[in-house]
Amino acid sequence: MRDVFGQLVGQDQVVDQLKTAAGAAGLTHAWLFTGPPGSGRSVAARAFAAALLCAERGCAECASCRQVAAGTHPDLLLIRPDGLSYGVKQTRELVLKAAASPVFGRWRIVLFEDADRATEQAANALLKAVEEPPPRTIWLLCAPSAADLPTTIRSRCRLITLRTPPTAAVAAILRAEGVGEEVALDAARASLGHIGRARRLATDQETAAHRREVLAVPRRLTGLGEALAAAAALVKAAEAEATATAEELDAPEREALKRAFGEGSTGKGVASAVRGAAGALKELEDRQKSRATRIKRDALDLALLDLAGFYRDVLALQVGADVELANAGRENDLRAIADTSSAATTVRRIEAIMTCRERLAASVAPLLAVEELTLALTGRYAA
Ligand SMILES: [Zn+2]
Repeated sequence: MRDVFGQLVGQDQVVDQLKTAAGAAGLTHAWLFTGPPGSGRSVAARAFAAALLCAERGCAECASCRQVAAGTHPDLLLIRPDGLSYGVKQTRELVLKAAASPVFGRWRIVLFEDADRATEQAANALLKAVEEPPPRTIWLLCAPSAADLPTTIRSRCRLITLRTPPTAAVAAILRAEGVGEEVALDAARASLGHIGRARRLATDQETAAHRREVLAVPRRLTGLGEALAAAAALVKAAEAEATATAEELDAPEREALKRAFGEGSTGKGVASAVRGAAGALKELEDRQKSRATRIKRDALDLALLDLAGFYRDVLALQVGADVELANAGRENDLRAIADTSSAATTVRRIEAIMTCRERLAASVAPLLAVEELTLALTGRYAA
């Protein structure tokens, strides 16, 4: 039978846990959904919210389930920080809203995606709410891992851990969406279990082309000049992708804001309306700038994960590991590198990629961090 948990891919254990909990008498008021990016932690949390708000524990068909799916249920607060961090002011407002009585259902549910982006002060504000939740409020927090939240918060949450979905399960989802057999399998392998990424690789030409460029990098790294050129190209491609994505999001927001202030601002209200518009526009621009930075960082991080996946495949060939190659279609490139370097070199290269990701997360200038990386991949660690 169809239900709200049907969208969760390769997470049978989690589905069982959540179904049992949704039907149980005493319900924990704070939950933490963790799992690698793309494994579907927010999908799982949303399905659980639907099950809690539905009279039939998540039928996927009633008005309540449809409202949860559309994000319009009055008893479900969806929080999705779109900047690099989530501040204390926003969190305090959220805590107040969360404490209101449910409009329809038994519960008032807050689904906080990327809760790890809460600043330290914001986390403190959150802790008070999670420690002493109003009797009808349920908190569903999502983060990559439990370690991403302060111990004080995570110790009060019931933990739900999603695993990386298997390739076959991801491919099956894509096929069900109309993607051809071979493309679905390739994209599923390449995504390393990230469902959204697999979907984009299978359906978006630009994403697929970008990935091919990234994967061509290892064989191009033959000297200092090539390394610097490759670094510049990687950063530029991530910037171009991020600019396009950000502009797609920004333009409609700006229009909406202009419309909101354009209407009803006549007569003596004009001056204050103009001041209000300037303030709101400034606030919007700040938020958009922060989001653009995050999109750029995410795009570059994806490129680095693709590179890491490439060297992981090289390592698999070098040590003769019986694992599925993420880049099965590029076996010539993989072989060429596997045959001319040692496994120890490959391990150091993967470590260099992970160090670069950490440096980028710590706000090191992207070009600087990526140049260090391509230089490390090129010469210094030669076999
Ligand atoms: Zn329902």
